[in-house]
Amino acid sequence: MNSPANRTFYIETFGCQMNAHDSEKVIGTLEHEGYRRVETEEDAGLILYNTCSIRDKAEQKVFHRLNEYKRMQGEGKQFAVLGCVAQQEGEKIFERAPYVSLVSGSASYRNLPQMLDRLQAGEQRITGLDDRQTDETFDTEFTARSNPHRGYITIIEGCDKFCSYCVVPYTRGKERSRTSESILAEARRMADQGYTDIQLLGQNVNSYRDPSLRMSFAEVLAAVAALPGIRRVRFTTSHPRDFTRDIVEAIDTIPAICDHVHLPVQSGSSAVLKAMQREYTREWYLERISWIKNATRDISMTTDIIVGFPGETDDDFEQTMSLLDVAGYDAVYAFAYSPRPNTPAITMEDSIPEEVKSERLQRLLTAQRERQRVSYSRHQGQIMDVMVEGYNRQRGQITGRSSQNKTVNFTTTQPILPALGSYCQVRVTATYPNSLVAEAVSVR
Ligand code: SF4
Repeated sequence: MNSPANRTFYIETFGCQMNAHDSEKVIGTLEHEGYRRVETEEDAGLILYNTCSIRDKAEQKVFHRLNEYKRMQGEGKQFAVLGCVAQQEGEKIFERAPYVSLVSGSASYRNLPQMLDRLQAGEQRITGLDDRQTDETFDTEFTARSNPHRGYITIIEGCDKFCSYCVVPYTRGKERSRTSESILAEARRMADQGYTDIQLLGQNVNSYRDPSLRMSFAEVLAAVAALPGIRRVRFTTSHPRDFTRDIVEAIDTIPAICDHVHLPVQSGSSAVLKAMQREYTREWYLERISWIKNATRDISMTTDIIVGFPGETDDDFEQTMSLLDVAGYDAVYAFAYSPRPNTPAITMEDSIPEEVKSERLQRLLTAQRERQRVSYSRHQGQIMDVMVEGYNRQRGQITGRSSQNKTVNFTTTQPILPALGSYCQVRVTATYPNSLVAEAVSVR
């Protein structure tokens, strides 16, 4: 058992940026409660597993991993399962892995300090599963951010969209936004600590509704961008249904708001979008694309696509392919559809044979790679600001990220390498489908 003098924990995290940032908040909360983070499961008294249910057979993978933990149960360790699979499987986890003491979905993390107290008191079966209808968010000032220069702020939790293939509304609960005052207070604290790059997060970040009714989402972007010391503001993920013109206007007029929009389309066919319950049509989506394309700044666009959704015809798929040309995406994250437990789409006949799904996926990825080769070449010769993220000593290159979130590998003639988190101005000398090569012009 974790003695009060020696409370240690190890955390393993899977999934999206929301999960990664949840873990930063969980770590901060644990450290505030007197726990110390360790690097291996062997050294830990408490092992936490922050799960994700987005991938195929996620539940089996979680139970498989828990089975591996089993060998350590005789060592007096405690186990906690967090995240989407915890919410989805609930108390079944105790049945299949009786050595687990805590099962909690993300909507209950705000109760984590109390749950930890109960854990420390030796309680065996603690659950945080009943908070999906809460109006409250998990705000904590104890977030343990892993990167000292760029950091996340969750501004909205949960999802009310109920796309027919997705478990998130069932696992993360209903949509609830933080007040703009609380977001700005956190952003200000981060700026004071030296953060220059802030990414606002939400399952549907632009569905943000300020409970204090002071600011729209675009106004929050502008207010964070105006904080002294903040040089970059990003946001993800946007939902087309709630994507408004003032977001594009904010990007267009405020240089600190990054010129990148991730706008998942999922399909280019209105019929498939209807079956997916995405709440918009191809035309609606294209209108938003045209706003972005007509901006004065070159705004980079990226998207998510599902191919082979039940009922997707050849013609539907061709409509998705045609979007690649219309939108000119700089990246496409594409997946073949696979049914998820507890979603409405699981009852639809999964009518597309696996080989057709995989052939469509390959065609799409190949076509997109060729388009990216062309679209990245527009940066040849451009001067841009890059935030330094690392060094590749073998290649003698510095690695960084542009405002458009593109990877830039560059060289410098200066004897001293620029510091991590600093900004360099570079000139692009070569382009690839997923990265740019450049040389430093000046360090700023
Ligand atoms: S918008 Fe749709 S895909 Fe995104 S989290 Fe909500 S239900 Fe899932």
